Amino acid sequence: MKIIAIGRNYAEHAKELNNPVPTTPVIFLKPDTALLKDNKPFYHPDFSEDIHHELEVVLKISKEGKHISEKFAAGYYDEIALGVDFTARDIQSRHKEKGLPWELAKAFDNSAPVSNFVPKTQFADIYQLNFHLDVNGQTRQTGNTSNLLFSFEYIIAFVSRYFTLKKGDLIFTGTPAGVAKVAVGDRLEGYLETEKLIDFYIK
Ligand code: MG
Repeated sequence: MKIIAIGRNYAEHAKELNNPVPTTPVIFLKPDTALLKDNKPFYHPDFSEDIHHELEVVLKISKEGKHISEKFAAGYYDEIALGVDFTARDIQSRHKEKGLPWELAKAFDNSAPVSNFVPKTQFADIYQLNFHLDVNGQTRQTGNTSNLLFSFEYIIAFVSRYFTLKKGDLIFTGTPAGVAKVAVGDRLEGYLETEKLIDFYIK
């Protein structure tokens, strides 16, 4: 499986990092070794002094497809989850300055914690979903999928022009504002609507 991630898909987050609001999706990949499941702890790596949390809604692809049209894209995912797109912001900043790729900042081991998946039919409107992240009991990020710049269907259509999507692939759909540094000992709790799906520690 592969993990596809969208950068800058909420305008307020693009602005907080002084990035332009994009007119086409910003795409990057994480390898399967980035996946961290079952709310296992995240061990802070020693190559970064500035690992940020980015809470995101994650789609699980339910069948293979390429060149999927936006009109049919909703049929390619049945379940959603919450994920954290851990980002070594110090490395990313250096690489952005030089125009270098982001993999060392974004794709390292365990950089993609993902919660259990829930059926999307559980929600009346997939584009009115509230989600938020608490760190040590304080709310740090709040998002609502009504604020997505590029819809889930648009993203699936867009990326499937370049990469064949396979059953089980994951798509991180972008983070709202409020990203910040994590520290050893922090507890991260992520909620989709009222359901707590993420609950793990930084070790
Ligand atoms: Mg992200």
